[in-house]
Amino acid sequence: MQEDFQKIVEYIRKLYNKPEGQIYLHEPFFGGNEKKYLAECIDTTYVSSVGKFVDSFEVEIAKYTGAAKAVACVNGTNALHIALKLVGVEQGHEVISQPLTFIATANAISYCNAKPVFLDVDMDTMGLSPKALLNFLETQTHFNSATSLQINNKTNRPITACVPMHTFGHPCRIDEIVEICNRFHIPVVEDAAESLGSFYKKQHTGTFGKVGVLSFNGNKILTTGGGGMLLFQDEELAKHAKHLTTQAKVPHAWEFAHDEIGYNYRMPNINAALGLAQLEQLDSFLTSKREIANHYKQFFNGSNTEFFNEPQNAVANYWLNCIFLKNIEERDAFLTYSNKNGVMTRPAWQLMNRLPIFKDCQRGDLPNSEKLSDCIINIPSSVNNK
Ligand SMILES: *Cc1c(COP(=O)(O)O)cnc(C)c1O
Repeated sequence: MQEDFQKIVEYIRKLYNKPEGQIYLHEPFFGGNEKKYLAECIDTTYVSSVGKFVDSFEVEIAKYTGAAKAVACVNGTNALHIALKLVGVEQGHEVISQPLTFIATANAISYCNAKPVFLDVDMDTMGLSPKALLNFLETQTHFNSATSLQINNKTNRPITACVPMHTFGHPCRIDEIVEICNRFHIPVVEDAAESLGSFYKKQHTGTFGKVGVLSFNGNKILTTGGGGMLLFQDEELAKHAKHLTTQAKVPHAWEFAHDEIGYNYRMPNINAALGLAQLEQLDSFLTSKREIANHYKQFFNGSNTEFFNEPQNAVANYWLNCIFLKNIEERDAFLTYSNKNGVMTRPAWQLMNRLPIFKDCQRGDLPNSEKLSDCIINIPSSVNNK
């Protein structure tokens, strides 16, 4: 075992051409117009919430993803909060999601004073399982025609959104999920925070649901320092998003009028400047990440450790490469060995339903989520700039 671990660590060092020193899981890479655009912000004094880079970044992200409109936010978690509000999630409602996700997904549901319901993921996508979703909706919910809401039989609460997540950049079966949710009158908010550059059946992730959410945190494929983006096909909804994220201020030459409770969730111009410069390099980042994934794939082929390949019908961004160890003991032994030897590796997140704050939430059977959370290890995946 130790010998296998040593071979993996040596291979990663070779791949990144770094015989010693720390190798991180995912480092940002600034190789384009970042300094130029940031200097322009400072020279023009447009560093804050108004400026041309916010507009251009939104336009260029919409163009790249094929969304009709994109609205920039301070971070991905805020963007998820706004997305859930926009589709009608309110106090006392429930939102279906997957337990194998980053805490932001479940936190955003909580910001609406709603409760998550956790359903299982598929083994081959690591994202929400359409089968588990359909089974839950068919056997444990009913439609209230007076309110046009789908009701959870057990809790009597309405289910007003479903949030699948494209885990580590690998698209889930999003077309099936949207089709099922449409049948049950439940809007889909896609957590595409990890999947900028990932496509399912040639369509960009985040554009299948009513709203999609991207993140530009420091460890994501592109970074704005901190940032997020809402993706829409519905332009009216996008307009409302812009309104909500800018303190719900009614446009006027000098009056301060606000027509609902809004938020200060808009992205500053300096963050957007960084984002625009990063976006210009996205294709080269994707190429580099696919090369790294292909190297890993070859290396792990025929070894005792399984490498996670992009799902069928999908082109993944390979944001974080992922291997499966045999069980939790072996997983922990490898985590200990690699981190001690300067190669950063991480397990998957603790399942949401196992966290004290969400342990009382309703959930389905979760055999796949449990298996995956015991076996997954993310290995270094930064853009290779050598
Ligand atoms: C990164 C991430 C988010 C958003 O995170 P921010 O740091 O707030 O931008 C949301 N969901 C998932 C699954 C993520 O990985």
